[in-house]
Amino acid sequence: MWPYDAPLPLDVRVSQQVIMTPVRVLVRCPETGAAVSTVLRLRQTAFEALLGEHAFRCERCGEVHRWRKEDAWLEGASPR
Ligand SMILES: [Zn+2]
Repeated sequence: MWPYDAPLPLDVRVSQQVIMTPVRVLVRCPETGAAVSTVLRLRQTAFEALLGEHAFRCERCGEVHRWRKEDAWLEGASPR
């Protein structure tokens, strides 16, 4: 809890928002090399707990790509 009777500093609010807001999970399309969005939207904590293999139909090339957490990153994070 913020111990003071004042609004949270902006940087704290922003980092809380980053943690709490589900964002798109991105992977790199092996056909085009472009970053593409999967069907998943996850919070940081849920993303870190993600297990197994996932698949989605790529909006860039139309193929189904399989990916794992190690291949992916959250929108707004630095790409792999
Ligand atoms: Zn693709």
